[in-house]
Amino acid sequence: MPTWRDNVRKVVPYVPGEQPNKKDVIKLNTNENPYPPAPGVKKALDSFDYETLRKYPDPKCSKLVSAIASYYGLSEDQVFVGVGSDDVLAMSFLTFFNSGKPVLFPDITYSFYDVWADMLRIPYRQVPLNNRFHVDPDDYIGDCGGIVIPNPNAPTGIAEKMDTYEKILDGHPGVVVIIDEAYVDFGAESVLPLIDKYDNLLVVQTFSKSRAMAGSRIGFAMGSPELIKYLSDVKFSFNSYTMDRVTIDLGTAALSDRKYFEEGVNKIIRTREWTKKKLKDLGFEFGDSVSNFIFARHEGVSASDLFEWLKSEGIYVRYFDKPRISDYLRITIGTDEEMEIFIEKVKTYLTMHGIG
Ligand code: PMP
Repeated sequence: MPTWRDNVRKVVPYVPGEQPNKKDVIKLNTNENPYPPAPGVKKALDSFDYETLRKYPDPKCSKLVSAIASYYGLSEDQVFVGVGSDDVLAMSFLTFFNSGKPVLFPDITYSFYDVWADMLRIPYRQVPLNNRFHVDPDDYIGDCGGIVIPNPNAPTGIAEKMDTYEKILDGHPGVVVIIDEAYVDFGAESVLPLIDKYDNLLVVQTFSKSRAMAGSRIGFAMGSPELIKYLSDVKFSFNSYTMDRVTIDLGTAALSDRKYFEEGVNKIIRTREWTKKKLKDLGFEFGDSVSNFIFARHEGVSASDLFEWLKSEGIYVRYFDKPRISDYLRITIGTDEEMEIFIEKVKTYLTMHGIG
């Protein structure tokens, strides 16, 4: 007998990193920024008029769109905002990947891509990164339904130069190519200048990492006015009021302080380079991360055992039990003090196991 269950859209959901309720943990597991957002964000929050909450927010988020456009030297019709870049990416999959042909993304990458594709019944093919975890544009040659690649990639932290993406774009004028730049501000080269040359290139960024606002949920896409129009049409066919009034104000305020932003990013880069050196001295191996995390392994150590032990010691990092990467840990860059404690703990673990 058929039941309503036969007609359910059955999905295997994405599992986000743990958000432990305990205090006093060192949280290096979800690539959050260890520093607060710009002081102007607090000011905007303090002066927010709560009475305005009775009204719907501006569905176009015009203030925020205009602030993003002027920050990046674009026109407003080249910018789309969403509730975190997860929202922007999900809307983009829905809008652009409808050919029935497989969408391409790396085999080791952000683990939401296959979840959205499965949920939306979009066929896909995972293209293996090379053995140094780099994207080879030749691997993307051929017919497909679209392409999505993070730069820098996650969870590897490794970035490619702009010409890698130009080669991919040159080979695929007939599909939308999405470059997910969630971590680009930590040292990679943005492909944003290419949006004038390629009207099928969508660049997606977020306030969650470099702008320290993961809790506010602000993501945005930049591309040709035509791409942005199609994306908006789908968004407005789904839910007009996705971003709330408070968030629109806070996001706009964040963009007005370029100096705080640049200093914050540079601080994290310095801590990352310090952490790389310490990890190398302890015998860890990793690619050249230009993001706010390091993806590292150690010959003599089981990553899952070290992950569990660190957790028992109150230090949360991320472990993915997946092909090719099950001996790696992804370690978010925290404050200097957090990273010093992390390194000391790892040293203790290695000593306990007679390594190093
Ligand atoms: N893209 C990549 C590669 C990410 O790692 C993340 C963070 N999990 C996101 C997009 C989404 O971030 P947010 O929704 O917070 O903007």
